[in-house]
Amino acid sequence: MTLIDGKTVAAAVKDRIAEEVKENGYTPGLAVIIVGNDPASRVYVNNKKKACEYCGFHSEEYALAENTTQGELIALIEKLNCDEKIDGILCQLPLPKHLDEKAVIEAISPAKDVDAFCEADVGKVMIGNYTFSPCTPAGVMELLKFYNIDVSGKNAVVIGRSNIVGKPMAMLLLHANATVTICHSKTQNLKEICRGADIVVSAVGRIGAVTADMVKEGAVVIDVGINRNAEGKLQGDVDFENVKEKASFITPVPGGVGPMTIAVLMQNTLKAYKSNKKIK
Ligand code: NAD
Repeated sequence: MTLIDGKTVAAAVKDRIAEEVKENGYTPGLAVIIVGNDPASRVYVNNKKKACEYCGFHSEEYALAENTTQGELIALIEKLNCDEKIDGILCQLPLPKHLDEKAVIEAISPAKDVDAFCEADVGKVMIGNYTFSPCTPAGVMELLKFYNIDVSGKNAVVIGRSNIVGKPMAMLLLHANATVTICHSKTQNLKEICRGADIVVSAVGRIGAVTADMVKEGAVVIDVGINRNAEGKLQGDVDFENVKEKASFITPVPGGVGPMTIAVLMQNTLKAYKSNKKIK
């Protein structure tokens, strides 16, 4: 069994970005908006800020109060849409219940939508012609590539069908010529379907969603899930201790897919900068 080391692969991606930025004197700028006091969101935003520093990007954080109105949030996004120092804008989700997430995402200029969450970007992933990569799925593909895991012709099962993880994940695997099955909360006989998979990607958000009896000997197991266990520690969807005995490759949580999501976000921000500044 090989443990897939997302931290190392993400560092290699960020090193390449940092080098390009330094060599060319680029100044990509990322604005991160966080509304309210969700502790998990706070951690993600801090990690994104750290990644910006590492890559030599300019970063701005907008920490808004829980009771921020839709109008105030949209006004901030519109200001950032016109700000030349800012190439990428992301609004950390989830937002407090009174805010309309969809409208907020759609307010971000497509040229600055580095999370690739807007409808147009999600749609382009389906066609396979996109500028900004869906961060988490593209991070998974980078991991597979780094470990020379050939996807073509393999049976891949994606568990989860969200617009930001499950669906784009399935599309990227399909573009790489895998035979893809998408499973979800209403799927019957999930265990049998997973047992036929050469590659399993779990994006459910529930501890124990993937157990050893669901995994074929020698399968590649990618755990996107981020959950908190009873001790408050981060844990994935996969029963890691037992599944690792059967898998050929497996990602840990933390230290697997998470760091790759941020590395791809940095790639997208650099892409946005080059496109906004018309650099080839
Ligand atoms: P979501 O809640 O939008 O989607 C969860 C999906 O799981 C749904 O499509 C649902 O149908 C499916 N599901 C639920 N119960 C199931 C069951 N019993 N069997 C099969 N499928 C079931 O969540 P999301 O935004 O797609 O995120 C999924 C997980 O990935 C979460 O834990 C989230 O925190 C994590 N995540 C991690 C990263 C990262 O960088 N590692 C990025 C984004 C999300």
